[in-house]
Formats: sequence, structure tokens, C-alpha cells
Amino acid sequence: MSTSALWHPFTQHGLESRMLPIARAEGAWLESPDGQRIFDGISSWWVITHGHRHPKIVRAIQVQADKLDQVIFAGFTHEPAESVARDLVTIVPRGLTHVFFSDSGSTSVEVALKMALGYWKNTGKPRTRILALEHAYHGDTIGTMSAGARGVFNASYEPLLFEVGRIPLPDHHHAQPTFDALEIACRKGDVAAFICEPLILGAGGMLIYDSAALREMHRICKAHDVLFIADEVMTGFGRTGTVFACEQASISPDILCLAKGLTGGSIPLAVTLCTDAIFDAHVSQDRARTFFHSSSYTANPIACAAAAANFEIWKTEPVLERILALEQAQAFCLNDLRTDPRFSNVRQIGTITAFELNGIQPGYLAVVALTLRARLLGRGVLLRPLGSTIYVMPPYCATKAELQDVYNAVREAVDEVMA
Ligand code: PLP
Repeated sequence: MSTSALWHPFTQHGLESRMLPIARAEGAWLESPDGQRIFDGISSWWVITHGHRHPKIVRAIQVQADKLDQVIFAGFTHEPAESVARDLVTIVPRGLTHVFFSDSGSTSVEVALKMALGYWKNTGKPRTRILALEHAYHGDTIGTMSAGARGVFNASYEPLLFEVGRIPLPDHHHAQPTFDALEIACRKGDVAAFICEPLILGAGGMLIYDSAALREMHRICKAHDVLFIADEVMTGFGRTGTVFACEQASISPDILCLAKGLTGGSIPLAVTLCTDAIFDAHVSQDRARTFFHSSSYTANPIACAAAAANFEIWKTEPVLERILALEQAQAFCLNDLRTDPRFSNVRQIGTITAFELNGIQPGYLAVVALTLRARLLGRGVLLRPLGSTIYVMPPYCATKAELQDVYNAVREAVDEVMA
């Protein structure tokens, strides 16, 4: 029996009794109280971009905490939020002119879905249906689970979930079924919005699809006046090699969700950006048309200061060059796996690599994931395989030598597990 009162996320306490205490972090490394160093190969659930405790972000948090900790954001504003909004609208795809703050990726997607339905309600057109990709993951709240794929993650809550139209994930060689399904669904005239993770589906298994398919899905939505929601909670801020994944398809979504890397991963903050048309549909003398969403900490000044410092880093440091170097280092390490018969579907987009462990029953519940995770931790590497899918998504400061150690640890751990 555990002596801790804590209930950890996505954790089966019946199988995982010991949580590893972490006392410090720096760059790509975590450190336990007794000095054990662990390479953060998943950027602490995909949030850390530049590295842990970037000095400019740490400093901004300290300075802001000394001035203004928190203020209600209805009826009030403050410079850190204004500054983040000003910067955001200049770096996101064109046309996204309004910024709504929340606190997590899930809430940013909930806000997106509510904005979409509010838009249609306020413009007097009865559109309420949501379309989403198969294998999608958009979060763990009721609305985001509804938009996400159904499976073991949400089976217990199924009665609470709303029905969503499913569009097949575009296949590299044969994306036509995706386009046909989207076209048919959009034609019905009841679709409020289509939501997708651009270029790569994360928790669904690091499933990559190409930018031409993304562009075509966007084109179909636009042709039928369906709002296009890009969930860049994971892909935003450089993960796929460009600041935003949508850039690679030259598309501007109607609604964009950002979280994780928004503060460099230092502190929770999220935004949902939208077009003038969506904002304007909520502006009225009629209070009933208000966008009814808030959370207590909306646009927390300390979190906004961290985001502002993150933007400063992007402006003043060679972040894209670092991303390119990481991309090349990842590609180099991945090469050896391509000819290794234990692995298949070896793939990469930007800074993210993924591959399947052969001979393992696919699915998130594959026990091998837990065994592998433990063996890797024993070697000082934090990875969290999604069932038989192993992926590496390190902070941008990770070096080639560090990555080589990670991939060596993977090979050794797999040797042990398969023996
Ligand atoms: N959307 C995507 C694409 C994600 O990858 C995630 C989390 O991994 C979320 C939404 C939910 O974000 P959060 O865990 O911050 O609620």
C-alpha cells in the first residue's frame, strides 16, 4: 500500500507503486533528490521546448510574481496578457486576430468547440455537428474526449460523450477516402466544425500524415463553410520543424488551440485564437450572445509573463536553428533503427521520432510499455511508450551525443525486454 495521498495521472497504481521523486531540472535533464540524473526524452509530456528552467523564463516569472500575481480577467486587463496577445497575432497563421486565454490544452479545445457552436448559434444557422479524425486525441475533459477517438482511455465515460462524425486518418499513399468522407459529411450542411491535430496525431500513436492532405482537408471545409479547428497543443512552437504545423500546409485555420510550449513548458497557460468573424458573431448589445466561458485563472499574469519571455527567446535566440540541428540529430539516430528487424514504421516529423516494436500486441495497454519504461529509467532515460509505439520528443537543447545515448538505451532495454 502506498503511503502517499497522491493519485497520479494516467497511472495504474495497482501496477506502479513507486513514483520517482524529482527535485531539480535543467536543460534536458531531471534530477532526483539523491542526484540521479534522467534525460527528459518526452519533454515532460511534450511541454518543455527550449529546455527546463530557461533563465529568461525563470527571471520573467520572478519579476512578475513580485508585481502582480493574479487579477480577475473579466473587466480587467494587464500588460503581460496584452503583450502575449500582440505577439501571438503576429506569429500565428494570418487571419487569427483574437486571443482567448485558458489554462490547459484541454480547456483550449473546449473553448474552440464552444466558439464554433456559439458562432453558428449567433449567426442564426443551426449547425452543431463536430467532425474529427480517427485516432484523434484532444484532451481528457468530457468535450475533448468526445472529439477524441473512443477506446480504453474513455470507455467508462462513454454515456457522457457526445457523438462526433469520424473522418479516416489520411494515408500517405491513399488519402482519397479521407477527402471523400469529409466531403460527404460537410455536404450535409449541419457541420459546425472539423477539428484535427495538424500533421501528427500525438497520443493516438504518433501517426504522421502529409501537409498536402492537411491542405486538402482545409480546402474541403472552406468549400462547405465548415469551421476548421487546428489543435496545435502538441505541435505548436516548433515541434514539427516550423513554428506551427499549419505553416507547412500554408493554411490558416478559423480557430487555433495552443498550450504546452506557449510558456516554454514552464507554467500552465493556453490560448484559443479565432478570426474576426467568430469574435464578431459574439459581439452584440444582447448579453445572451456573450461568450460564456472563463476559468478563475484566465490569463494569469505570471503565466503570461512566462509566455512573453518565451516569445522573447524566439525573437532573440536561434530557436529554429536549434530545432533543425535536433531534427538532423534525430534523423541520424533513427537511421540505425531502420535496418533493425525489431522495429518497424520508423518515422519522423521535425523534432519527433517514433517507431513500432515488432512482435508485440498493439494497443495502449501492452504491458511491454511499462516494462520498457522501467528499464529505460534504470538507464537514466525518461520515455513513455504508447503501447508498442516508442517515441522520442526531447527539448530543443538536446545534443546529438545525448540522443545517441537515448537510442542506445532503447536498444539495450528492448534487448532485455524481448529476451
Ligand atoms: N490536444 C492535443 C493535441 C494534445 O496532445 C493534448 C495533450 O497531450 C491536449 C490537447 C490536452 O492538453 P492538456 O493535457 O494540457 O489538457
